[in-house]
Formats: sequence, structure tokens, C-alpha cells
Amino acid sequence: MAQIRFFALQEAQNRQPVNIEYPNKRTSEYFGSYVFDKRNMQEYLSQEAFAGVMESIEKGDKIDRKLADQVAVGMKAWALDLGATYYTHWFSPLTDGTAEKHDAFIQFTDTGGVIEAFSGKLLAQQEPDASSFPSGGIRNTFEARGYTAWDPTSPAFILDRTLCIPTIFVSYTGEALDHKTPLLKALNAVDKAATAICEYFDKNVTKVSAALGWEQEYFLVDEALFNARPDLVACDRTLVGHQSAKNQQLDDQYFSSIPERISSFMRELEIEGYKLGIPIKTRHNEVAPNQYEVTPIYEECNLAVDHNLLIMDIMKKIARHHKFRIIFHEKPFQEVNGSGKHNNWSLITNTGVNLLSPGAKPKTNMQFLSFLVCTLNAVYKHQDLLRASIVSAGNALRLGANEAPPLIISAFVGNQITEMLDDLETRVTDKKMTPDEKTELKLDVGKIPEILLDNTDRNRTSPFAFTGNRFEFRAVGASANPAAPMIVLNTAVAQELKDFKREVDKLIEKGVKKDEAIFQVIREFIIKSKKIRFEGNSYSEEWHKEAKKRGLSNITNVIEAIDAYTSKTSVKLFVANKVFSEKELEARTEVRYDNFTKKIQIESRVLAHIAINQIVPTAIEYQTRLINNVKGLKELFGDDAKEMTEGRIALIKELSEHTSSIKAKVKEMNNTRKIANTKNISRDKAYEYSLKVVPFLAEIRYHIDKLERVIDNEMWPLPKYSELLFTR
Ligand code: ADP
Ligand code: MG
Repeated sequence: MAQIRFFALQEAQNRQPVNIEYPNKRTSEYFGSYVFDKRNMQEYLSQEAFAGVMESIEKGDKIDRKLADQVAVGMKAWALDLGATYYTHWFSPLTDGTAEKHDAFIQFTDTGGVIEAFSGKLLAQQEPDASSFPSGGIRNTFEARGYTAWDPTSPAFILDRTLCIPTIFVSYTGEALDHKTPLLKALNAVDKAATAICEYFDKNVTKVSAALGWEQEYFLVDEALFNARPDLVACDRTLVGHQSAKNQQLDDQYFSSIPERISSFMRELEIEGYKLGIPIKTRHNEVAPNQYEVTPIYEECNLAVDHNLLIMDIMKKIARHHKFRIIFHEKPFQEVNGSGKHNNWSLITNTGVNLLSPGAKPKTNMQFLSFLVCTLNAVYKHQDLLRASIVSAGNALRLGANEAPPLIISAFVGNQITEMLDDLETRVTDKKMTPDEKTELKLDVGKIPEILLDNTDRNRTSPFAFTGNRFEFRAVGASANPAAPMIVLNTAVAQELKDFKREVDKLIEKGVKKDEAIFQVIREFIIKSKKIRFEGNSYSEEWHKEAKKRGLSNITNVIEAIDAYTSKTSVKLFVANKVFSEKELEARTEVRYDNFTKKIQIESRVLAHIAINQIVPTAIEYQTRLINNVKGLKELFGDDAKEMTEGRIALIKELSEHTSSIKAKVKEMNNTRKIANTKNISRDKAYEYSLKVVPFLAEIRYHIDKLERVIDNEMWPLPKYSELLFTR
């Protein structure tokens, strides 16, 4: 067997589970022990400083320098007590991950020794060189500085003895260079707009927070096998590989018992996650072999996003302790399920009411319906933007496959809500209602049963599904920063809520009673957003036809989908809600185009390497063996050898055909890339890559996968699907 594959397999098969002991404590006793949370702040901060931080979290205000100095003192003391030696501003630039630049706490004293120092200035702001982060042209080369500023709504934490301070990252001229800055703005917009609507129903509501509960899917592959695959190492996905005879067709992986090596990985992850205050709640096997899921309890959206980024980071590290590599790619293996990151979203008031949860009384249900129809309308109006927020080179391979939502955005609400909405649509009219009609309507609205939470009424094929007290955006990719879709969703909903309120107020001004005005606008919104509602099977062929009839968009090209960020409607939406300026949107879109180009460029180079340097030589070697064999047979048996050699000669020809095709196509692909690279405009280059380069990946793979089926197993250089997916 090709040596590298042989040794990798041997190593993987002999692996033992790492022994991870749970701490000798209850979870509640060490949960958040590495987080500078309320409890720790209370202990380490003066009363004044504590009150100041709490107020700035509540109001979203900046913290002044004097206060920052006081907080820095407390934070430093806490961090040193836990053995921290370094601190860093922790932020999410426009790459997929997070960034950190560590500085030690030490500072020289007058007498030549050192002390641990950390000031309010260092806490509040840092000035990292921004020149090596993607900026989409915002940052001029002569002004490379960017700065990071503390976000007190996300608590500091200690990781690897380093105090990490969550921060925003902006250019020196004030434009956002990260995901957090616009997210905070979007959350602020939806807070303001939602609070204004709540005033119709409950004056005690002064703040509304978006909640996010993400479900993170991932694959674990043994380290030795992973490292023997150049495609996994460089691209996080397999570019070649014939499907294994057994994959997921028996449905015997989903929710099945968790293998020991995996469960010991999960245990360590939970322990480390709990220390960092991440409320991990659920773990299970997913559908595909070697695919798993981790899900925490939902949290305030900004914190949930940080926790998702943080957990992905520690998962990578912990996987290594267990001699695994973790894969967050959306479609690492053809023919088996890909990985998503479902985003469960709702709006929750400071009084503890979930605005997307139907209540028992007509009044609360009127409030619920207002928020529901605004959300539906937001999804309808900004379907293109929602799609733009979740597409990527990786997710393009997953979406529209038989297990993931299609690229047509629609919303599922379930039988009962559908009936309710249909009923309201036909019954409430613009004319004044009689008192009887009003009572009847109120009674009916009051009847939305709370059993909606029951899981039976669920549609797992919908990209955006109402699940009883929240919406689940299921099209988000596993590797994505969930901030992007959350920015779009919260901004779009904020705008609808504002429009909703304006319409209601207009009617009230005209003398219509408040409740009736609200009903009229609810009805208007039901009618406007009707086309986005779909209860059937979103994976089906019929839905594609039906969606087309309805005029819903279905954009399968990633670049065309990304374009929606800079459409007139999108720019208007973002600018009106002060989430992005036009310049920021253009820059961000540019980064997305470039990212696509680079991903495909890397995949195409790696595939060329595998094809030419690993597969073709193997095929030729095997072919030579066959040729020698045929020659030998002919020597021995002369004309009588014909029958014996016929099949072998056909195989020799087949090998030649595939290797010739591979070589020709690799050459063509490389030339196509060269032409694409001459394009100066990012969008043009990315589009060219999507149209011209991408198809080669599948064409070349086709021939390689055919070769895998006919070449001697012993000679094949790459770990096969049956090995990658079933060794654990
Ligand atoms: P399923 O796989 O059935 O969709 P999971 O239990 O895997 O469900 O995940 C559900 C996620 O939804 C969890 O993160 C949970 O905390 C979250 N969630 C529950 N209620 C809300 C809510 N009101 N708002 C946002 N997220 C929620
Ligand atoms: Mg789940």
C-alpha cells in the first residue's frame, strides 16, 4: 500500500481514547470561572465602577476614561489571580475567524525591575496594524492603522492564560473592519424599533434584545488520515474521493451512541466551554458518519456570536489533543450530508417576554402577531439580502443538495399559524368593525394555543422555519461567522417594525382606535408577505416551479447572490438604519468576492497537485504493471493469451483515457485561471472563477474517482472515504 496511507491508517486504527475526567465539582460551581462576569466584577470592582459598567451595558454607551481606569485595575487583579500573564484585544476581522495580538502585562519600573501593568487606556483601545486584514479597499496604505475598542456587552475571559477583551475593530477613519461593529448597530436598531412597538402593549418594556441560539455541526477526522490528504489540509474538504459502499444510507449514525474517542473529545469541550461561560446544552451524533453537533442554550445575540467564534476556536485546539482534526466546512465529503449552523432567533423584552411566543391572551397575541408579520415581511422583502448573507464557496456545495435548504428563501409557519393568518386576512376589513366582530376577532386571536412548541409541527426542509417561539434560519453555513446573517435579519426586521408603527400611527391619527389600527396593519402585512410563506417540501422539484410562479428569486451563483449587498434596496435599508454606510457595504462585498476567488484558487491548485503528482503517477505505475503482465502472458501463451489479456488491455486503455483527460483538463484549468487572474476588478475576477474555473473541479474529480475504482487498492495514495469517515 502506498506508504503514507498505510501508516496513517495503522496509526488511526491503533488510537486510544484520551482519558478526560470531569472536575470534581458540579458544573454550576465552575461555570464561568474564567469569565469577568457580573459576579466577578462585583468582587473585583469598586461599587462606582461596577455601576458604571452595568449602566453602559444597559444603555450601550461608551465608558469614559476615568471609569475605564478603575475597571482596568479590577480586571487586571482578577486576571493575575487566575495566572494570566498576557492580555489581548479579541476581535473578528473580515476573515472567517477571530484575531488576537498578545501583549504581556509587564512594564519596567524605575529601579529596573518589572511590574504587572494594565491601564484603562490599554483596556479601552489598542491600535493594531490593520494592513494585513481584509478591508475591501477602505484602508489606504499610508494610513494602515486601525483601532480596536472595548465592547463591554461581551465580558472579558481568560484563554490559555491570556486575558481576552472582546472589541470592535474599525479603521482610523471610522469605518467598520469587522463583524461586531455592524452587529451592535443592527441590534441597537431592532431594540429601538421593537421597544417602540411594545409601547402599544406594555409601557414597562424599555429594551428588547435579539436572542440567538446556534446549533454547530462539525466533522471529526483522525489526524493521521487528515494529514495524508492534501485537500483536507489546505481546503478543509475532499476534492476527490469515491463514495464508500456504506455511508449514511442505513441512518445508523444519527443520535446513535457516541464512540469513546468522540465522547472524550466532547467531554473536554464541555469542561472548557463551561469555564468560559458557554452554556453548552446538547451534543449528539449527526446524520453523516463522523458528523456531530454541539448546541448551547440561546443567549443575547452579540454574546452568542462571540461564544460561537470562541467555541470554534477551542474546538480546533481540543480536537488536536484527541488526535483529531475538526472540519467546519459546509460540504467536506460528497454524497453524505454537509454541515450547517442553524441560527435560532427571537426577540426578548427586558420584562422577560419572548415577542415571538404566542401567549394565552388576545392582547399578548396581538403583540405576537405584530412581530410575526413584521418578520415575515422582512424576509420577503430582503430575501436576496438574506441569501447574500449566507452564501460562500463552501455553502454553495451544501445548499440545494438533498439535505439542505435550497437557495430559494421562504418561511414556514406551521398549520395553526397559517390558519390564523389566512383567517385574519379574509376577516378583518378596512371598514369599521361592529363591536360583535371585534369581540369575535379578539376571542379568536386569543385562541392560538401554546402547544405550538410541540415538535410535531416542524418542517426541516425550510430555510427559515417558525418553531413555536422563534425562527430557525437553517441555511447558515457551519464555518460562517453568524454575525453576517444576524446583521441582515435584525436590520430588516427593525425596518419593518418601524414601517409597521408608522402605518398604525397614521391610522390612529385619523381617528381609528388603537387595536383596530393594529389589526388593519397586521392584515396589510399578512397580504404583502404572503408569497414568502411555504409549508411544503422545500427540497422538491415542484417547489422550484411554484417559487418561480410566485416571483421568488433563486440565485445559485455565489457571486450573483453576493451582489444583493449593494442593491438599491439593501443600501437604503442599511443606511437608513445606520448599520453600514454605502462605502462600508462596497468594501465588505469586495472582501466577499476576493474570499471566493482565493478559496477556488487554492482548491484548483491543490487539485492540480493531487491529480498530476499523486494520481497520474499511480495510474501509470499500475498501468505499467498491467502491461508487463500482458507481455508475460503473451510470451507464455502466444496467441492463446488473447482471452486472458482482453480485459486487461481494455483496462490499460481505460487508464490511459482517464490520465490523458486529467492532464488535459488540469492544463486547461490552469490556463483558465491565468486568464481570470488578469481581471482587475474583484467582482469580475470572482465571477470568472465561478463560471469558468469551478466546473473544472468536478470534471477532473470525475476521472480521478473513476480511477480510484479500478486501481489496485494497495497502490492508492490517498485515504479513502471508507477510511476517513469510519475510523474513530
Ligand atoms: P433542534 O435541533 O430540534 O432545532 P436544538 O435543541 O438542537 O433543537 O437547538 C435549539 C436551539 O434553539 C438551542 O440553541 C436553543 O437554546 C435555541 N432556542 C430555544 N428557544 C429560543 C429562543 N426563544 N430564541 C432563540 N433561540 C432559542
Ligand atoms: Mg439540532
